[in-house]
Formats: sequence, structure tokens, C-alpha cells
Amino acid sequence: MIRFILKPQESDPTLVFAGEELMAHLEELMVWRKWAAGREEYPVTLMTDPRQFSCRKDAFRYRFTEEEGIIIGNHARSVLLGVYDYLKEIGFLFLKPGREGTRIPVVTDCGQLFREVDTKEASFYHRGVCIEGANSVEHALDFVDWLPKIGCNSFFLQFRKPDVFFERWYEHQNNPLLKKVIKSRRELDEMEESLTRAMGIRGMLDHRMGHGWTGEALGYSNTGWRREDELQEKEMALAAEIDGRRQLFKGIPANTNLCYSHPEVKRRLEELVVTYAREHPNVSYLHFWLADECNNICECDECTATTLSDQYIELLNGIDRRLTEEGLPTKIVFLLYQELLLAPMKEKLKHTDRFCLMFAPISRTFEKSYPRELPSVELPPYERNRFRLPRTLEENLSYYKIWKDKFDGDSFFYDYPLGRAHYGDFGYMKVAKIIYDDIHALKELGADGYISCQELRAGLPTTFPNYVMGESLAREEASYEEIKKSYFSALYGGSSEAVEKYLETLSGYSDMDYFNGHGLRYRPEKEGDFLKIEETAQDFLTQIPYLWEDTKEHEGTRKQLSFHANYCIRLSRALAALCSGKSEEADGLFGEFCSYIREKESDMHSVLDVYRVIEVAVKYTGFHLH
Ligand SMILES: [Zn+2]
Repeated sequence: MIRFILKPQESDPTLVFAGEELMAHLEELMVWRKWAAGREEYPVTLMTDPRQFSCRKDAFRYRFTEEEGIIIGNHARSVLLGVYDYLKEIGFLFLKPGREGTRIPVVTDCGQLFREVDTKEASFYHRGVCIEGANSVEHALDFVDWLPKIGCNSFFLQFRKPDVFFERWYEHQNNPLLKKVIKSRRELDEMEESLTRAMGIRGMLDHRMGHGWTGEALGYSNTGWRREDELQEKEMALAAEIDGRRQLFKGIPANTNLCYSHPEVKRRLEELVVTYAREHPNVSYLHFWLADECNNICECDECTATTLSDQYIELLNGIDRRLTEEGLPTKIVFLLYQELLLAPMKEKLKHTDRFCLMFAPISRTFEKSYPRELPSVELPPYERNRFRLPRTLEENLSYYKIWKDKFDGDSFFYDYPLGRAHYGDFGYMKVAKIIYDDIHALKELGADGYISCQELRAGLPTTFPNYVMGESLAREEASYEEIKKSYFSALYGGSSEAVEKYLETLSGYSDMDYFNGHGLRYRPEKEGDFLKIEETAQDFLTQIPYLWEDTKEHEGTRKQLSFHANYCIRLSRALAALCSGKSEEADGLFGEFCSYIREKESDMHSVLDVYRVIEVAVKYTGFHLH
């Protein structure tokens, strides 16, 4: 039996959880059970002591001998990370969310359980994921559980209430074959609470809100991008004036900017943020962003006399002043995105420590990685409400560079490789390498981490891109080849090389930018590549029976790879027609693809977000659903 000694507080929920996790995993090992049965007790100390570490990033060290075990971390969360690191050290692998994602090692000699590891410090402070797509509460809980297992420490639940992400799943939006279930306010609240508990028990950095403040200041609920009734007369003066009119931007409050020079707007926004921070002490990073669409900023005389970013800084300083008065430590994350990519002209943040800069290059290419140093390209002159999002990485980063010269506080990148573009990479090998290289450029670009805004179910064909993300944010010294080898051999055994080669081939013919809506839709030169994807997948389908025996053990692997190959065949056919300008044929083939994934959704929902791939294909790639 393990006797746990938890310090400094026996009741620390994260240390208690870390102990439970250690115990549950060791109990899976026969060799451990036998060894432990022969002893009265085995003392294990789980201890938080920041004085023993001179860093802000998660750090831990541990020692397991025949006499005792000890894990010390600079934070309770780091002790939990230490538990998972120890388990990985003795051979456990955490390949994907959920119980079936854990690989239990075959340990024959109990001596293999005794390890000593000196201080390991995470490579970056911010390491995590932001919720997007459609999710059941179980999908989200499994994902949160997985994050620290792959070395991450943060999770971001967007909006005041993350209803939109749950509703998409339970209402089965984009899949009429499944029965729509409407969740009540109480049920939605319980789902959010269970996620809050899951993050809390793991000591994770809890990120919240983001867009939605502007709509809330106008009196709308803050639960997503819902279309709402037009503004009440009395609120109209608060909305941005565009072409002489003040109204919701295309009917959506979360996408609507306000008249930020209006004193009531400032008062309401400050009040909302401060009240939220006061009522949510669990929230470590509170995101204060403006509208989620560009080119709807106020054209009134007072607003045009300054820039949006200067107004943003004024708002942020006002929020900081109020938080300081109330003694609230909440960090405020500000966003460089849309027009806010342009640095302020005059205003400056007063208390650097209160803030964290978040750079979100949403319009970037995913066909190449960040450069290793900050570029400085000439940026087009700014014209109010005629802003064009930067197209290249260099342009994006040039905006960031100007901001960085004005703010030298904490910062991280917020990026979207698994938010839309990944659907364009049929093998997921290209996107995985882009993620790896991007993370390895972060330090040179002056950022202390990365939060991925993404679908939580990005697992077709594999969860390798997410796995690479976590492992390299925690341990940048791990080589891509090393991570790839351990992941693929654990997942595919003796056939790992064949699968890897197949997926690399698919990725080689893929174009993430095309799927993501970049560039012309008529691109006949791409047709050959898309047809090659179809041919490669067809060929692989015939190989599956020879790669794994038809046994219970390999059933899941065979099933998932067959589904994936069929998915590739149907979607690449549709893309081949689309890029050749045969749009009617493309829509017909896309319809066949949709029917296929909808029919299989009940079986394959843990790896594919059917709602989201259809949404992206329609909204960005250029298909039409009939
Ligand atoms: Zn204005």
C-alpha cells in the first residue's frame, strides 16, 4: 500500500488527485502489485515547494527508490506533471484523450520502477488549448484530463458560458441523422461546472471569456456568436457608428464593436470585467477582447480622432486601475488580432505585470512555419473600415514586432493549426511538423508559450499533431523524430513504418491553405494532387488486412484507418472537382462525403468533429450543402 504524505497541505486537491493518478496507474502493473503486496507500506511524498526552484515555469523533480518515493514541484500542478512524467519514464504513453488512449507498459522487473530524475523545467510557461468545435461534456472532460498527460498546463473555455460548443454537439448541428437534444440552462451550467472542477483539481491555468464583452455591454447574453434582435433605441448610442448608422454588425453582438469614446461604454466594460474577476477567483487569465469581426469600428468624430488600439489601451488601463483598487490579482490577456494588430500611436499600458499579450495570426499560411527571427516588412497604410488582414506570416509578424517594441511583458501566441487548416492535411503529418517548427521558433520571437484554438476532437487519422504540441511545449529538446517514433510504434506496432509512410504521402499531396479558403478556388493545377490522395487511400484500403490481423486487439486500428481512407477518398474527389471549376459536381461529391461521415458519426465521434469539418468546408473551402 502507498502511504501518501502531502505537503504543505494534506488537503490540497491537486496533490490528492496527483496521488490518485499515481496509484491508479501503478495498479495497472502486475509487477507493482506483487512488489507492493510484500510490504506493509510504501511512503510517497508529494510536495509543493517553490523555494526549491528558481523559475516561474512548471518544474519538478522526483526519486523513487525501494524505500520511498518523492515528487517535489514548484506548484501542485507541477507535482501532477511530475507524476505523469514518472509514468512516462517507466513506459506509460498517453496517446490520445480517454482511457483507451493510455498504453500500459510491460514491466517485468520491479527495479525498472525505481527512478531518479533531477529538475525538469517546462520549456514554456503557457501551454494549452482553447475550446472550439462541437463537444459533449465527456469529450471536453477527456481532453482536459489528457492535457497534463502530454505536458500542458492551461485550458481556455471561451465566453461567459461556453454553451455554443455544447449545443453544437447535443443538437447535432450539421448532422440531421442524429437526434437533436436541447439542453436546459441548468444542464449547461452543470457541464461548465464539471469542467471548472476538472481544471481546478489539476491546478491548471484557467483562461476565460475572450470575445463577447461588447455584446454584453449592449445587454445581450455572452454565450457564443448567436444572432440577436436589433438594438434597443436606448442602447444605440453605444454601438459603433458605421456609414452614419449604429446597429449590430450583421446581427451578431459578439462581432459588434462599440463607440469606445462614449463614457458609458467605458464604464460598462470596466464594470463587467471587474465584476467577473471578483466573482471568479479561479480564473487566472481573463481575456478582454473586442469584436470578432473587422471593419466595423466607430466612425464618430471622437473615435476617428484616435486609433482602435489606443482606445483599447485606455480601456485596459481603466480595467487595471479598478482591479488594483479592489486588490484583485487576475491577469488580463489582450489580443493582437484584426485591427488591433496595429500598435497604438500614443497610449501605453501602465502596469506591465497585470497584462499578457496574445498574438493571433489567424490569416497566416499553414504551409510554412514561423520564421526564426522577427521580420520587418512594409505594412500597407491603414484606412478605417477598409482593413485587409495580413496574408503572409511576415506581414503578420511585422505587426507583432511593432507591438512588442511597446510592451515587454508576458506574452504567448494563439494559433489555429487544428482549428480549420488541419482538415486540408489528409495525413496530419504536415500540420504536426508545422506545429513542431512553430513552437521551436517561439523563443526567438519573444513569446513564452502557445495556446491552440482548436477542435478538441482532432484525431483523424491520429492525434499526433496535438501530441507533438504538448510534448514539445513541455520539452523543446525532444526531437521531432524521437516523438514521432515513440507515438507511431506505440499506436501501430510492427506496421508503424508503413502507416507513417502512407500518412506522409497523403500529407505531401495536401494543401492546408486551399482547404482554409486562401487563394482562388479555381486551381486546375491542384487536381492531380487531389486525385493522388484518392488513389493513395484506395491503395491503402486494400493493404489494411495484411498490416494487422483481424483480431479484437487490432479492431480499433483497422476500423479507424478504414474510415479515414474512405473519408479521404470522398473528400479529395470533391476537392479535385472544386479546383477544376466543376462546382456543381464538387457539391454533389461533397454531399456524398457528408452522408458518409454523418452515417459513421456515432462510431467515430471521438476522433472527428463532423459539425466542424462540414462548417469549414462550407464557410471557407467553397462547397455548398444542398
Ligand atoms: Zn465613436
